[in-house]
Amino acid sequence: MRVAFIGLGNMGKPMSRNLVRAGHQVTGFDLVPAAGAYLLAQGGQVADSAVAAAAGADVVISMLPTSEHVRDLYFGRGALVAHIAPGTLLIDSSTISISVTRELASEVRKNGCAMIDAPVSGGTLGAEAGTLTFMVGGEATDLERARPLLEAMGKNIVHAGSNGAGQTAKICNNMLSGICMIGTTEALALGIANGLDPKILSDIMRTSSGTNFALQRLNPYPGVMPEVPSSRDYQGGFRTDFQLKDMLLAVQLANESKTLATLGSVACNLFSIHCDNGYAALDYSSIMLMMDKALAAAASRTK
Ligand code: NAD
Repeated sequence: MRVAFIGLGNMGKPMSRNLVRAGHQVTGFDLVPAAGAYLLAQGGQVADSAVAAAAGADVVISMLPTSEHVRDLYFGRGALVAHIAPGTLLIDSSTISISVTRELASEVRKNGCAMIDAPVSGGTLGAEAGTLTFMVGGEATDLERARPLLEAMGKNIVHAGSNGAGQTAKICNNMLSGICMIGTTEALALGIANGLDPKILSDIMRTSSGTNFALQRLNPYPGVMPEVPSSRDYQGGFRTDFQLKDMLLAVQLANESKTLATLGSVACNLFSIHCDNGYAALDYSSIMLMMDKALAAAASRTK
């Protein structure tokens, strides 16, 4: 298939490369010109605008930071939807607001094209390995058109419902993973403050009832897992300001639907403070640093 890939950042780079490897003709575009070099080296093409990348494409995939970026691409400065051929399928894999997704899908339909929301889970490691989970919202027939592409980038492709349902699932998931990450750092800090070795404690909790994704794949304590962000000064991975964006979307959704997000709100506030303290660009497991500071303060009070 001829594919335009817009947004060649931490996720877009490996995802677009996996499409090339699966035999698709991929033309990428990123606002930062240097971001295209990797795709070019992998056998893809690079264009100098989103409209140029999408010329002749069957499908346009976007992997952008926020709702505002996707809106700007489709109908703002990017002016993409006004220029693509009728029948083109738009796949937005960014994590963005549910209401914005629904509004964009409706506008795209009015322009004779189709859109599905297909946000992902699995992080940069899943993107590299081609094992992402895609949570899809939209028409089943549009998902079937997208399926060969999604299968080139992911392992689990789940149809969650109509437009916005993919984003709803993603936001629920990220609220839970944010809560689990903070809970894990609190438990580790408690054990360490009371004389336990972080690796031994992690191994015990990983195989006990407290187990979760942070303990299994993304341990937040430096040195416990050599290949994860905590062991390289929290560089790479999933930025804390993106985690905060997703938690804010979850809290907003809970308010709109009058459901409880009690722990979600607390976790959201902690990520917000952590970003304000200067850690926004680090992986979200860096919330461990907040617990380390609390540990140090507690230790100095008892001296
Ligand atoms: P990133 O910041 O690394 O990459 C985004 C890229 O989009 C940047 O290179 C930026 O220059 C480009 N961009 C912005 N506006 C553009 C436009 N109008 N046209 C072309 N390019 C544009 O972000 P990322 O980590 O790749 O994440 C992208 C999305 O995926 C976010 O919504 C994020 O929440 C979600 N996500 C990220 C991860 C992760 O682990 N990084 C995991 C799951 C979901």
